[in-house]
Amino acid sequence: MSTTPLTIGVLALQGDFDAHRRALERLGVRTVLVRKPEELDGIDGLVIPGGESSTFLKFLEREGFLEKLRDFVSTKPAFGTCAGAILLAKEVLNPSQPSLGALDIAIRRNAYGRQIDSSIMMSATSLGTEPLEMVFIRAPRIERTGKSVEVLAEREDHPVLVRDGKILAATFHPELSSDLRVHQLFLDMVKQARNGNASGGNRLE
Ligand code: GLN
Repeated sequence: MSTTPLTIGVLALQGDFDAHRRALERLGVRTVLVRKPEELDGIDGLVIPGGESSTFLKFLEREGFLEKLRDFVSTKPAFGTCAGAILLAKEVLNPSQPSLGALDIAIRRNAYGRQIDSSIMMSATSLGTEPLEMVFIRAPRIERTGKSVEVLAEREDHPVLVRDGKILAATFHPELSSDLRVHQLFLDMVKQARNGNASGGNRLE
């Protein structure tokens, strides 16, 4: 087993990466901000924050970052929130755009319209009995999930928190709430992957 401390990277090209870093530090985990493709090398898992997915893509199209990130998320744990969930999805709608294809969902960008494009809700999840605060900001909507995708929470019959093996995605922003349960789940996934389930693609055995 490796003796280097478990480290989670936060993609820091754009968007609200610092709130994720603070949430992970509250859980006592070592974090690094990832701004260059080679910084993916030493980390055990990666958070892809919210922001604007089309702007992320513009940054990622430089220096082979997109290809390197695609390789990373095909073998290591990743957690995408909002724009991050859009980047991880297999299929992006409104409009269609390239993605990492690591999570078998179809996701529609900016799906809630102008009136309710940002909102805060308390909702039930499978992460315990207490409802979870969910902050939605120009949120996308998950419109299809593949068979291997587990739905952990829903809003109006659409999944808002999903997991497929080593990949976790939320269409809301858990980093903007004080409740750490979603980050804790990701940390547990990263620990589990590092302790022996790291092979075999995106599946926790
Ligand atoms: N609307 C953004 C997009 O399409 C996502 C918004 C967010 O990350 N809060 O990429």
